[in-house]
Amino acid sequence: MGLERFLFDLEIQNPGEPEFIQSVRDFLTSVKDRISDDFRLNNAAILERITEPDRVFVFKVPWMNDQGKVIVNRGYRVQYNNALGPYKGGLRFHPALTLGTVKMLAFEQVFKNSLTSLALGGAMGGANFDPKGKSEGEIMRFCQSFVLQLWDLLGSEMDIPGNDVGVSSREIGYMFGMFKKLTHMHSGTFTGKGSEWGGTGLRAESTGFGVIYFLEALLKDQNESLDGKTICVSGFGNVAYGVIRKAVELGAKVVTLSGPDGFIYDPDGITGDKLDYLVELRATSQDLVRPYSIEFPGVVYYENQKPWQIPCDIAIPCAIQNEIGLNEARQIMQGGCKYVIEAADRPCNSEALEFFDSNQIVLAPGKAANAGGVAVSALELVQNSMKMTWTPKEVDHRLKDIMERIYQMCKLHGIKPDGSINYRDGANIASFHRVTEAMIDQGAV
Ligand code: GLU
Repeated sequence: MGLERFLFDLEIQNPGEPEFIQSVRDFLTSVKDRISDDFRLNNAAILERITEPDRVFVFKVPWMNDQGKVIVNRGYRVQYNNALGPYKGGLRFHPALTLGTVKMLAFEQVFKNSLTSLALGGAMGGANFDPKGKSEGEIMRFCQSFVLQLWDLLGSEMDIPGNDVGVSSREIGYMFGMFKKLTHMHSGTFTGKGSEWGGTGLRAESTGFGVIYFLEALLKDQNESLDGKTICVSGFGNVAYGVIRKAVELGAKVVTLSGPDGFIYDPDGITGDKLDYLVELRATSQDLVRPYSIEFPGVVYYENQKPWQIPCDIAIPCAIQNEIGLNEARQIMQGGCKYVIEAADRPCNSEALEFFDSNQIVLAPGKAANAGGVAVSALELVQNSMKMTWTPKEVDHRLKDIMERIYQMCKLHGIKPDGSINYRDGANIASFHRVTEAMIDQGAV
């Protein structure tokens, strides 16, 4: 059966889930040449099996707000594939979260986790709950109710949730607390835990640091470095923070940040005390970046716009899926940018990806470049099972090593007959190979 026909049927089976279909389409386009003539893969129905999650849970999360009114949210957990290890992936609390988005993220997670070379299956979950503007008590009651619905499906050998958008160590703490009460066990069933009770050093910075280690390896191959490069960043959460800190440490200048209210352009670059201010801002503001432009002279605020119109050498989207479409991709190219590094999960839509490919803009795919976050989650689990704590320096060392290996894998599998490298294809092919070989070894299950 041709790929188009397969995708057509898949769309009928999964109506109203365009993000999931888009992600599967892009992935299968990279690996299709591997599948078409491979008797083993066809015979094992690999295509059908990797496009169907193992299990999907959709559940009600009722909780009481501070006014005594019961609110009902919808929770999700998609246990996508556990061929390589226990299900592992984040929880996202975001008001616009839908099942289609969760399935897309779970699908991406399977292959992201495969690239880490660690024993991790893939999953994703969350709820259409917005922690912003909620009191501490409301967040705690929500997290407790969420876990009450999900706890018997979780476990350190079964399914291990972690951080994602809207879920920091605070939310993990409340969920872990309820899980511990129900199971009577202090186990490594969640990652992103507080550093004093099972968490790991560097988890908050790890995704961003990993992105920059990947970029460093990529630039080194072109006889370039981060020194003196101008970078545009979107978002200003944990990922953006880690990216900026490491990029600045290595000599780059980061000139933009964004939130739902727009973006700021800081021609002098975001450094030192400005980064401290950023952390403060995140804790107090409702995701707004405008106050930054009031605090520091010379900073320009662009209301309700995205930062991609600002010229740069490297663009690093750190916000959310599909933030870069064709128009933004054009702006990025017109600004002279040569590298787009996906720090968020699928921040570029399919048209943008094709545009970058056909305009020789190097793209580092999210499933490779941002795999440092989940890799450090796996290091947290290792420390939990050894009942040991590594120093942030030890964790950092391991993270760097993992990211350099991921880069080399993407390069090895992404090299084209003309010598050019497509890192997206490389990441998809390398990760596909590991997952599917494990599936074949384990039989038709
Ligand atoms: N959501 C994060 C990621 O995909 C972390 C997942 C986890 O630690 O489980 O990178």
